[in-house]
Amino acid sequence: MKVRFLGTGTSHGIPVIGCKCPVCTSADPRNNRYRCSVYICEGQTGIIIDTPPEYRLRAVEYSIDRLDAVLFTHGHFDHTAGLDDVRVYNELQAMDMPVYSDARTLREIRDRFAYVFMPTQEGGGKPKLQLIEAEPYSEFKVGEMDIMPVEVGHGDMKISGFMINKKFAYLTDNSFLPDRTCDVLRGIDVLVLGALRHKPHPTHFSLEQAVLAAKKIGAKKTYFTHMSHALDHGATEEKLPENIRLSYDGLKLEI
Ligand SMILES: [Zn+2]
Ligand SMILES: [Zn+2]
Ligand SMILES: [Zn+2]
Repeated sequence: MKVRFLGTGTSHGIPVIGCKCPVCTSADPRNNRYRCSVYICEGQTGIIIDTPPEYRLRAVEYSIDRLDAVLFTHGHFDHTAGLDDVRVYNELQAMDMPVYSDARTLREIRDRFAYVFMPTQEGGGKPKLQLIEAEPYSEFKVGEMDIMPVEVGHGDMKISGFMINKKFAYLTDNSFLPDRTCDVLRGIDVLVLGALRHKPHPTHFSLEQAVLAAKKIGAKKTYFTHMSHALDHGATEEKLPENIRLSYDGLKLEI
């Protein structure tokens, strides 16, 4: 399985507009973070989790020329704003794009992208989507991938994380992990977890909370994502255990 991080920043993106802090002005490219998404490829099957505002830029840069499905963790703008660009694949592949998520997220997508689901004039390109509800903890198949959605707490909201082929799991915007989710993920090869900053936050793990959760799950390797400009890549990574690293835009993994 091949994994590529398309973006690893929190909702503002890094650099933050107007900010001159050391991370936003850093020369280290790993401190440059688009909004979060990941591309996963197994054999001939390719999927993305979330479509951030910069999805098109990354798809061109990393030659993501084919997609078998889009998975959504939740409906927040930084995870969905690039959805319209999926319409290119409708043409390239002559098919509607399967879109998987929990019931609430699919509802939010229907509301936010209402124009997609209503009749409009000829010629205005719109994505053709096949929305498919994916219930927590019940596995579904996309090509060569067995995908299990897991429940993730994001403040008061319940959102989705995804485990793929029992080797890789992607969770973001997490502030609470139910026991069942930790049990399902225990000892997995690679875990991706959200870690926002040092200070506590009502809807995201702090770095310290993310380290505790990573240790509880005990993946062979954990990567943090959805990071704010409070986290300098080099300085933060130095203080982490060897098997917990920060992801960065463009990072490639072979699992
Ligand atoms: Zn987010
Ligand atoms: Zn900054
Ligand atoms: Zn969110």
